[in-house]
Amino acid sequence: MVEFHRMENGLWRPFPVEYKRGKPKIDDCDRVQLCAQAICLEEMLNLEIPEGALFYGQIRRREDVIFDQELRTETEDIARKVHALIDSGSTPKPQFSKKCEKCSLLELCMPRTCGGKKPVGNYLLKAAEGP
Ligand code: SF4
Repeated sequence: MVEFHRMENGLWRPFPVEYKRGKPKIDDCDRVQLCAQAICLEEMLNLEIPEGALFYGQIRRREDVIFDQELRTETEDIARKVHALIDSGSTPKPQFSKKCEKCSLLELCMPRTCGGKKPVGNYLLKAAEGP
């Protein structure tokens, strides 16, 4: 969602707001997502967006996010890595973790069965060897 805040000069500035069901995470992923949205708006509208906000439903709290150079650099680095990943044509193996339990892709991704470092061939060889 994008709010529009009136500036001192009377013009309106977009203010992106991202709603999350849960609570703030220990990593920067939500801030990076919001920053990416801001960068897209900046490119579309040819203006600067200095801040936005994250709203967390579980704690019913809104946090302002400043799009400083550090966050922008982190966001651009991740965007470059995602482009490289897409260009490579390969999908990374899923790694099951606590966050998977709330992920909307859990049933498609199947990180418990498709993840891990051991190839299925090892399992089949062991099974063929018997007890
Ligand atoms: S279920 Fe898959 S996509 Fe979702 S968090 Fe886990 S590994 Fe990532």
